[in-house]
Amino acid sequence: MSFEEYKNLWVFVETEENEVKPVGYELLNPGRELADKMGAKLVAVVIGGKVEDIAKKAIEYGADEAILVEGDEYFNYTTDAYSIAMKTLVDKHKPSAILIGATNNGRDLGPKMACDLNTGLTADCTGLDYDAEAGNMVWTRPAFGGNLMAMILCPDNRPQLGTVRPGVFKKPELVEGREGTITREDIHVAADQIRTKLIERIEEVAEAVNLEEAEIIVSGGRGVGSEEGFGVIRELADVLGATVGASRAAVDEGWIPRAHQVGQTGKTVGPKLYIACGISGAIQHAAGISGSDCIVAINKDPDAPIFDVADYGIVGDLFTIIPIMIDQIKKV
Ligand code: FAD
Repeated sequence: MSFEEYKNLWVFVETEENEVKPVGYELLNPGRELADKMGAKLVAVVIGGKVEDIAKKAIEYGADEAILVEGDEYFNYTTDAYSIAMKTLVDKHKPSAILIGATNNGRDLGPKMACDLNTGLTADCTGLDYDAEAGNMVWTRPAFGGNLMAMILCPDNRPQLGTVRPGVFKKPELVEGREGTITREDIHVAADQIRTKLIERIEEVAEAVNLEEAEIIVSGGRGVGSEEGFGVIRELADVLGATVGASRAAVDEGWIPRAHQVGQTGKTVGPKLYIACGISGAIQHAAGISGSDCIVAINKDPDAPIFDVADYGIVGDLFTIIPIMIDQIKKV
């Protein structure tokens, strides 16, 4: 199949209530490099209520062009409105590849677009490259719990789609007043085509989490098993006057807010005492705790890598061990 008419690299710059999600600008950084390798233009696609400023800024962050779609129906994200707009744009302009931030909305939009456009999607990428000889994007993403990095190609369909985790790339440098073309596309989605409606927005009350300055941290990982499982972690933290941390796996499961994440893409910590409960000790987690004076690990797997970096290790079920620790500490 010939893909000659599919050109250019698009970055979907997500907005919500006329505010930009930073990952959109972040993606313009690898986007610039990839577009240059492809000999293509870097195009920012900005959809929202009133978001021309965001399109202008995308150009200042390095996009050659911005495609702008504005309308009341895009003020808040809905799968239908956004996927209809994106399909219309793709059918008209035929991009070769599209980068989408792996936000909640991006993780919804990407698969819907892949279905609508009958193409592939590589979800949750942490690395991006372009194989100029084959003319394909090379998407990299962790597989098997982060133990393998998989390189994924989508050679038989266009556009090639990928969602990319926020925070993996840094925003490019902003060049104020940088010029580029903004193409306004008049696409409107009728109310009866939109099957979902935002009724109410309930803001999450962000807890103040000061992990960087904490002297004692008790962290929970996937081994904690659930949001309720964090009860025992909080109880131990309470009796020790500690701050609660978490692995990325626990955060991604939605058991605890992201502000608690420790590690490469979370906080780097240096407490006097770090207690890792049900955390395997993946390199990205270990990278954030190496400044701790003393690391205690509780894990039921004696071969868990966390024991390689721990000063003290307890092999066993955290739900058995932590209550014993709490009882003993209370007696002191
Ligand atoms: P798992 O690896 O699933 O480990 C769970 C552990 O719990 C296992 O060792 C198991 O034996 C133990 N367990 C299960 N049940 C019990 C029980 N009842 N009692 C005791 N032990 C039990 N991770 C981070 O943490 N922070 C980061 O900042 C981070 N950044 C990343 C950045 C990138 C680019 C990538 C690719 C990955 C990143 N990760 C990060 C993810 C990392 O690779 C691991 O996937 C993650 O740390 C695993 O979390 P975990 O140890 O909780 O889960």
